[in-house]
Amino acid sequence: MRFVSTRGGAPAVTLSQAIAAGLAPDGGLYVPDTLPSLSPADFADCVTLPQIAATLLRPFFAGDALAPELDAICDEAFDVPAPLRPLGDDTHLLELFHGPTAAFKDFGARFLAACLTRLRAGAQTPLTIIVATSGDTGAAVGGAFHRAPGLRVVILYPDGRVSPRQAHQLGAFGDNVRALRVAGSFDDCQALVKRALGDTALQARVALSSANSISLGRLLPQMSYYAKAALEHRRAHGGVLNFAIPTGNLGNAMACILARRIGLPIGKVLLATNANDVLPQFFDGAPYTPRASVATLANAMDVGAPSNFERLRWLTPDDNALRAGLRAIAVDDDAIARTIQDVWDAHFFAICPHTATAVHALQRERAAGRAHGIWAVAATAHPAKFDTIVEPLVGARVPPPPALAALLSRPASATAMPADDATFVQELLRG
Ligand SMILES: *Cc1c(COP(=O)(O)O)cnc(C)c1O
Repeated sequence: MRFVSTRGGAPAVTLSQAIAAGLAPDGGLYVPDTLPSLSPADFADCVTLPQIAATLLRPFFAGDALAPELDAICDEAFDVPAPLRPLGDDTHLLELFHGPTAAFKDFGARFLAACLTRLRAGAQTPLTIIVATSGDTGAAVGGAFHRAPGLRVVILYPDGRVSPRQAHQLGAFGDNVRALRVAGSFDDCQALVKRALGDTALQARVALSSANSISLGRLLPQMSYYAKAALEHRRAHGGVLNFAIPTGNLGNAMACILARRIGLPIGKVLLATNANDVLPQFFDGAPYTPRASVATLANAMDVGAPSNFERLRWLTPDDNALRAGLRAIAVDDDAIARTIQDVWDAHFFAICPHTATAVHALQRERAAGRAHGIWAVAATAHPAKFDTIVEPLVGARVPPPPALAALLSRPASATAMPADDATFVQELLRG
């Protein structure tokens, strides 16, 4: 299979090239030039998550240098479970936070790392992955590439603007993973990364790549857990499984929509945002209008210009058809807080603020008579990552899962840095 840019201005490339490049040279996002078609029968022999992932991804890997490695890549990236947990009648949580840094981004980041490690095998010089983060992405990428041979990671985060636990996580890896705490905003961090990636003189001295949420190497594998949940549901009960998904840059939800398009037994897809309501406004009929983001309790979704929207429009170019196939609901901070409390009171377990947006959005759709059948809500992070928000709401301690606790018990350090290109270049050349 070949991959082309959403903007149509770049040559078709192989999967390996698309994964290594990140963004297409015309500024677009890589997408497959044709879509495979799979049916539940194709998964008859698949039971485990790695098996389902490999069957689902095989057509995308066809003809690529990585194809012979696909099974091994899936075994590596999908060795943590993504279980369904009941949340009352007709609703489940799809728990995506059992990876090393306790958020769904571990799946995509670890798949990308498994691909890039193989693509770089035998390279003479190390490849440096630079990533700007508002919290969860940096940790997932750091965890995925930690001690990967031939690869190093430099994480930039806005000093003082991530949660204390997130900051500790980012600085706790060590070895080939460095954290820079930047005196500036997340946008400043992202701008530093973008300019470094576009600096050909710098790139001649140090090979750079990125690992943000538009990377195909993160997007494609995220289809797998939706496929597994939907196939299991079909085997046990027949019919389709519907999904409610906390949404920021639209990477996670895009994967679910893609899985539905290529034939998995997935019903409705409901997008839940926080107060950053660019998508709900669009799906309610307004023109698509990106704008600056506002800070909310669900900070990993504080996105004013969802980067994967371009892929959604590639999949369904007609806006009215797009609106007919999806719904999006905005959930404000009060509703997020109330939902965390309500779930605790009813079920005695905590959910994270991001997960709460989707639980609440689904409740609203049900109340409006627009959501029938069985639903799974993507639980995108473990609540202990957001202890300072969740614990006061539920009035109880929310202990971190073992992998997160292990990371938090390690010493952490980050280098302070001004939001300045010259200083960043110095840091990158420091080896
Ligand atoms: C990144 C993130 C999201 C948003 O995912 P997108 O792919 O950007 O839409 C939701 N919840 C958590 C916990 C996240 O870390």
